[in-house]
Amino acid sequence: TLPVVAIVGRPNVGKSTLFNRIAGERIAIVEDKPGITRDRIYSKGDWSGRAFHLIDTGGLEFGEKDEVIDHIRHQAELAIEEADVIVFVLDGRSGVTATDEEVARLLHRADKPVVLAVNKLDHIKHHEEIYEFYQLGFETPIAVSSLHGTGTGDLLDEVVKRL
Ligand code: GDP
Ligand code: MG
Repeated sequence: TLPVVAIVGRPNVGKSTLFNRIAGERIAIVEDKPGITRDRIYSKGDWSGRAFHLIDTGGLEFGEKDEVIDHIRHQAELAIEEADVIVFVLDGRSGVTATDEEVARLLHRADKPVVLAVNKLDHIKHHEEIYEFYQLGFETPIAVSSLHGTGTGDLLDEVVKRL
């Protein structure tokens, strides 16, 4: 069986857009509003001759703040259980939020490798935004634009190194 890569993060950071980018197909449904993506969508990805299963842990991301947090917690726990490598997606434009810190705490409890994808950095002049994310306590954050596809190769290099 193939190793599993799980995409985790709070709503609207671009998990499904990144998933589609890596999967190379538009499987997850991406909408401008958070809460549209279907639950836990699987695909097969490959990079540098390494094949893996990819999970978009997004899902039913709507409701009151507490419900959203509970939902993210549940998804993160499932991902932690199943994943060999976790891609923690962050919004490079909004900076670190309280919900990001919550997700980070969950991921630190797991003994799984985590790669940070600092997304929505569509222009190279914004790449310095990644430095703020070191405070979450994980290894090298990678600047990504899932929209344009930039940085996803560097991200996948870091992912397959850890498979
Ligand atoms: P999810 O809730 O984490 O799955 O986030 P989505 O993939 O649904 O994306 C949420 C919104 O962010 C959508 O409007 C996307 O088009 C937008 N988005 C995702 N990735 C990028 C990116 O790299 N750059 C920009 N500018 N917008 C993005
Ligand atoms: Mg989604």
